[in-house]
Amino acid sequence: MKIIDGKKISEVILEDLGRKVTEIKNSGDKIPHLAAVLVGNNPASETYVNAKVKACEKTGFQSTLKKTEGTIAESDLLGIVRELNDDQDIDGFIVQLPLPSHINEHRIIEAISPAKDVDGFHPVNQGKMVLNLPCLLPATPYGIMMLFENCGIDTSGKHCVVLGRSHIVGTPMSILMGRKTSPGNCTVTLCHSKTKNLEDFCRSADILIAAMGIPEFVTGSMVKEGAVVIDVGINRLPDPSKKSGYRLAGDVKFDEVAPKCSRITPVPGGVGPMTIAALLTNTMKAAGYKDIKI
Ligand code: NDP
Repeated sequence: MKIIDGKKISEVILEDLGRKVTEIKNSGDKIPHLAAVLVGNNPASETYVNAKVKACEKTGFQSTLKKTEGTIAESDLLGIVRELNDDQDIDGFIVQLPLPSHINEHRIIEAISPAKDVDGFHPVNQGKMVLNLPCLLPATPYGIMMLFENCGIDTSGKHCVVLGRSHIVGTPMSILMGRKTSPGNCTVTLCHSKTKNLEDFCRSADILIAAMGIPEFVTGSMVKEGAVVIDVGINRLPDPSKKSGYRLAGDVKFDEVAPKCSRITPVPGGVGPMTIAALLTNTMKAAGYKDIKI
């Protein structure tokens, strides 16, 4: 069994991006600029946004963080989105999800200019993804595709089972794995809360991607010998022995599942850092460097 070191792979990608930024700077061109909007003070969202800003600093991207009260009216948040759309200096931006329940997430996402939608959530980008046209891919599934590519994992003809069908992870993941591309070319099964005999599907997976948000849902008996397991879940479990008061757990029971796998991502240090690498790659593309090969 080999652990897929997403942290290390993402660091290599960020170094490549950093070199590209230096080239851009040296030729006197505009440095790519990513903005993030953080609504309210959800501690997990704050952690994710800070990690994104830090990655920008590390690679030399320009970054702007816009924080608003959690009570902000939807119309005012739409106003911020429009300002960012119109700001010529901003190449791409994200509105960190989840948003407070009084705000309609779809309305906010649809207001983002598809050309600046570096999270890849806008219907235009998702539609182009389905058609295999150039677009900004949803960051987490894109980061996972980068993992397959960087680790040389052959996905062609494999049965890929995706657990979870959210619009930001599970559904786009299932589409990318089924596309006529490499990585891709899988036969895909997309499971969700209404799936019957889910464990049987899991046991038949050559590649199992868990994105449900249920801590340690996937146990050893649900995994085929030699499978590749990608754990997207990031769940906070109370742990008084930690300074923070919690520990992170994935959707996979790592200790039971890892010995059966050929490859597995850990939590933390697997998919999480790859999401950031994909986000910055998208920002580079949004800045006009569309052919950037990472
Ligand atoms: P959502 O809550 O939006 O979606 C969860 C999905 O899991 C739904 O499709 C739901 O089914 C399905 N599900 C829930 N319970 C079951 C069950 N018992 N059996 C089968 N399917 C079930 O979650 P997200 O996609 O936003 O996130 C999933 C996880 O990934 C979370 O832990 C999140 O923190 C993490 N995440 C990690 C990222 C990273 O960078 N590593 C980025 C984004 C998310 P249904 O549709 O029927 O309700």
